Amino acid sequence: MTEYKDISYLHMCYGLAEKAVGWASPNPYVGAVIEKKGIIVGHGYHEMPGKPHAEAVALEKAGAQSKGATAYINLEPCVHWGRTPPCIDKILQADLKRVVISSVDPNPLVNGKGIQRMKNAGIEVSLGLLKQRNDRLNEIYLKYIQNNIPFVTLKTALSLDGKTATKTHSSKWISSPETRKYMHLLRGEQEAIMVGINTILQDDPRLTVRHPSWPGKKITRVIVDSKLRMPSTAKILSTLSKGGVIVFTLEQSISKNRKVLQKKGVKIVSLPGKGQRVDIKKVLEWLGNHKISSVLVEGGNLLQTHMLENKLIDKIMISISPKLVGGQGAHCFFQGAGVQTISQSLKIKEMNEFQIGNDIVVQGYI
Ligand SMILES: [Zn+2]
Repeated sequence: MTEYKDISYLHMCYGLAEKAVGWASPNPYVGAVIEKKGIIVGHGYHEMPGKPHAEAVALEKAGAQSKGATAYINLEPCVHWGRTPPCIDKILQADLKRVVISSVDPNPLVNGKGIQRMKNAGIEVSLGLLKQRNDRLNEIYLKYIQNNIPFVTLKTALSLDGKTATKTHSSKWISSPETRKYMHLLRGEQEAIMVGINTILQDDPRLTVRHPSWPGKKITRVIVDSKLRMPSTAKILSTLSKGGVIVFTLEQSISKNRKVLQKKGVKIVSLPGKGQRVDIKKVLEWLGNHKISSVLVEGGNLLQTHMLENKLIDKIMISISPKLVGGQGAHCFFQGAGVQTISQSLKIKEMNEFQIGNDIVVQGYI
């Protein structure tokens, strides 16, 4: 009975935490519910960096009613000063009887210390219920906080025979308008979109978040451009109010455009190369060091292939449409050298799929 009750209240925490998706990063998505004798006396979630944490909001609402109550939180409370005070102090002051948590916070500054301090104070702590739900909800945070490298999602649209474009580079549109709208919605969950320079040169996209579900959402645009071929007339440069544009290039690249681009507000980062190309691992490290915890790689095929080959992708999201494109020179998102035997192929884990109209969207982890 207690477990059933715990699960119900924890699900409420997740409902609250999900409101923060796309806004609270690089912080985790956390919701908290304070329950006493079957009545919710406080609830809250962490909206965005700088705003109070979920536990602080919920305890503030509960006030004196938190005495002897149970707190439900999807992630262990913090014990360290960030932009806000540590939640553990508020929890200990609240005189709670019991705290139910899905997951330990793997942040090296926390990592069990919050739980230990509650136990030391005589609070009954239950840990582990719905942990898998937290693992998925906070997949970005959990990778970032332990590795300081963003969580990377690859997104692409395919025909049923696995093509991203015809042999004449025509790709508009492989997927249906409904699928494109859904995929566009997902952009808002990310902090950055990354593409290779060929995508800019061929499609001239703006790469902004325009879906009505994300009013005011800004997203950083990352362009991998080893030879600094970025044109100063690219459409993306007229959208700097919708998010920054960072171009990663080789230290030795020379371009008369460099100064013009910088003047327009583009940040140009020069990195050492891996052969003739920017080292993408170094790009991800740079983004991590600049507090970008998630990246959506939208194209093109060269960049996506390179990142798959170098195991730099965490998650894939692919729409498949009921069209057969054919053609030997038609494009695939994963080309490169390929593997010799099927046993060497990249394995997709936890794959699931759903349908939008006539298209199928498949997602999984690498
Ligand atoms: Zn906290």
